[in-house]
Amino acid sequence: MLDENLEVIQVPAFSDNYIYIIRDLISGQVGTIDPGTAEPVIKILDEKSWKLDFIFNTHHHPDHVGGNLTLKDRYDCKIIGHGADQRRIPGIDLKVSDGESFTFGNREVNVIGTTGHTKGHIVYWFAQNNVLFCGDTLFSMGCGRLFEGTPAQMWESLTKIKQLPDITKVYCAHEYTEANGAFALTVDPQNENLVQYMTEVKRLRSEGLMTIPSNLGLEKKVNPFLRADDLRIRQNLKMIEATDEEVFAEIRRRKDIF
Ligand SMILES: [Zn+2]
Repeated sequence: MLDENLEVIQVPAFSDNYIYIIRDLISGQVGTIDPGTAEPVIKILDEKSWKLDFIFNTHHHPDHVGGNLTLKDRYDCKIIGHGADQRRIPGIDLKVSDGESFTFGNREVNVIGTTGHTKGHIVYWFAQNNVLFCGDTLFSMGCGRLFEGTPAQMWESLTKIKQLPDITKVYCAHEYTEANGAFALTVDPQNENLVQYMTEVKRLRSEGLMTIPSNLGLEKKVNPFLRADDLRIRQNLKMIEATDEEVFAEIRRRKDIF
C-alpha cells in the first residue's frame, strides 16, 4: 500500500508472522522490518528489481532476525537494532536505543524503547507517515508475552505508544487478532466497539484476509492491554482500587492462561 512517499508491503511468513518491506519513493531506499526468513523478502525484491539498504529489527527472536545474515550477504545492507541486544541480533551494524532517531530516505525514524516482551525490544515510529512498526510489543487487541520484562515495564512501554496520534497505523509482527479478540471479550464484554470490531475481524479472517495494519485510535477503544485505566474493565476484574500496572498485570496473567 502507498502512504504518502512511503510504500509498505506486507509479507506473510511462517504461520502467522508479518515481515514488512518499505520503500522511500523519493530516494528509492528500501528497508525490511523483522525478516524472520529471507526467502519471501528476496522474492519480492527480485520481482521489483529493488536492492535492500536496511534491516530494522524490533527484537532478537528468531522469527524476527532469522533472515538477517542471508539478506546482508546478498545485499550488503545495514542492520539496525537495540545496542543492548547486539550479541543477540545477527549482523547488527547500527546500534540504537530509546529516544534516538536516524534517517530513512529524507525522513526521521524515531526509536522508542519498549521493554517487556524482551529487554531490548524497540519500535520504529515514522512520524511523517503516521506509521508504527511495533514488532511483538503491541498487537491488535493484544500485546506481547512478557518473556523478559515485568508487567510494570510493559505497561510503561504501551503507555508510550498510547501517546502517539490516533491515526498512527499499527504494523505489528503477528496476525493474532482474532484470538486476541476472543480473549478481550472476556474482560470487556460490554464494549460495543470491541463487539463490532470482532464481527469485522471474523469476516475478514473467514475470507482469508489480513486484519493488519490496525490503527492506534481503534486500539485505544478495543485493546484491553491499552485500557487498564478503564472503569468498566476494572469493575469486571473487581479491581476498582488497583493501580494501572496491577490491572494490566492481571489482564496479562489471564491472557497467558486463556
Ligand atoms: Zn518475539
